[in-house]
Amino acid sequence: MNLFDTHCHFETRDENEISAILSRAAAAGVSRIVAVGGSAELNASARIAADIASRDSSLPRVFAALGWDRDQCATPPDESPALPRVAGGIPVAAVGEIGLDYHYSPETRDAQRALFGAELERARALDLPVVIHTREADEDTLGLLREIPSRGVIHCFTGTPEFCRALLDLGFFISISGIVTFRLADNVRASALAVPDDMLLIETDSPFLAPVPMRGKANEPAFIIHTAKFLAGLRGVDAETLAAQTAENAMRAFAAAPARTS
Ligand SMILES: [Zn+2]
Repeated sequence: MNLFDTHCHFETRDENEISAILSRAAAAGVSRIVAVGGSAELNASARIAADIASRDSSLPRVFAALGWDRDQCATPPDESPALPRVAGGIPVAAVGEIGLDYHYSPETRDAQRALFGAELERARALDLPVVIHTREADEDTLGLLREIPSRGVIHCFTGTPEFCRALLDLGFFISISGIVTFRLADNVRASALAVPDDMLLIETDSPFLAPVPMRGKANEPAFIIHTAKFLAGLRGVDAETLAAQTAENAMRAFAAAPARTS
């Protein structure tokens, strides 16, 4: 199995704990992981995970996505340190996660929009893909993505098939999490079926959202196999094929822009 977990957070900076999570992922057939930031703490742990993996070839390859998520919108953008293309010798694969959440934080909509716009501009200046979180903010997400041309991934997609198609029209990859295995997730299953083979990604969103049959446990990249198997069944392909296709898609999603040679 060749699995690529396109979205994982490390909520620890303990190197032994991170190494153990990465070892279990390798044993489960995970070859690549995007370690995703969003806050100072998560940006730091993503860098640590990428650094550990870069020193041990038995572990999955770890790419870091660094950025400021909607919960950081109270921090004026000029106080946000610029994230370089190469952070401490570790390649930054993307700016993320960034985006809007009007479900949990409707009162900060304006500040969220301002920060999201600034992060999209920064990704464009760095010529990097973005990793986007969007919840109950369909109109504003589409509006900003139309205003600021961007490429990348919509992570943990839980929207309607119509929203999914609008994002695909803008060229975005759609990443499906373990939510697709949940009993009450018909909408996510309908959207997952609307994504063409070459635009589909899978993710754990660890340590949250453990898929069936791991619900209730702390999620980790090793559990991506359950989402891959479920999604393969839903789409009528075998798990090997789905794993290989989504891994290949992820390589395209996080590749450096074709114009650059670095
Ligand atoms: Zn996330």
